[in-house]
Amino acid sequence: MKFARLGAKGQEKPAVMVSESEAVFVDHLISDWNRSELEAGAIAKVGAADLSSLPKVKVSDYRIGSPVARPTNIICVGLNYAKHAAESGMTPPPEPVIFTKAPDTAIGPNDDIIIPPNSVKTDYEVEIAIVIGKKASYIPSVEQAPSYIAGYTISQDVSERHWQIERAGQWTKGKSFPTFNPCGPVVVTADSFDPHNVRVWCTVDGEKRQDSSTSDLIFGINHIVWYISQFMELHPGDIINTGTPEGVGMGFKPEKYLRAGQTVVTGIDGIGQFTNKVVAHK
Ligand code: MG
Repeated sequence: MKFARLGAKGQEKPAVMVSESEAVFVDHLISDWNRSELEAGAIAKVGAADLSSLPKVKVSDYRIGSPVARPTNIICVGLNYAKHAAESGMTPPPEPVIFTKAPDTAIGPNDDIIIPPNSVKTDYEVEIAIVIGKKASYIPSVEQAPSYIAGYTISQDVSERHWQIERAGQWTKGKSFPTFNPCGPVVVTADSFDPHNVRVWCTVDGEKRQDSSTSDLIFGINHIVWYISQFMELHPGDIINTGTPEGVGMGFKPEKYLRAGQTVVTGIDGIGQFTNKVVAHK
């Protein structure tokens, strides 16, 4: 199953895709795709329902929202592709590097990315994102991690390198500006998707910048979920950005950061793609 949220900002309704371009609303079954409904078994409930008589709508007639409403947390893995660690001038870490970004950065997949005031180093990062399906704490083994995963989506982990790297402190500052985590367009449920060898890519104004595969992840999906659960509780709807491959703007010489007026397209085979216009802060 692929699920999404369609509607104007703040008025999104939960939906399920019935073809590449069509969806049905399921707001008669669940109030939203959110933490409490996922905790109460929304995926099983909607999956078991007969949706065949519901009116189909064209997704293109709607704005698409973040596929999970108000995630409690967005947790990120840094330096999780060897070539990206190298282009960042760092060595691959012996254990996952974990940081968080403000949960309200999660916006609709095609919403605008706003360059922060005075920023000249706003950068892009395509990532496969894990959506947590049930509360996870101290998962005993990597093998048990899959049962805590609801599904997968795409995150654009927008990053301001000046505040992330050059100024004193922790990466969170450069990662949490408003609009810095477009995600979607759908969540593909874990029962219908194998995330371990899929193509992840990103273009800027049509120029291919990132093109890699999740098979190059240093720490795999299940390892990440198990590992993070040793340090914090994970809750349904939480999003884990698993790391970005090489090709970010910071890695070019000269560097290629985002500018107002540019268009970023972010995609992962089997999940979909989305398009963001980059705009200046007003
Ligand atoms: Mg990242």
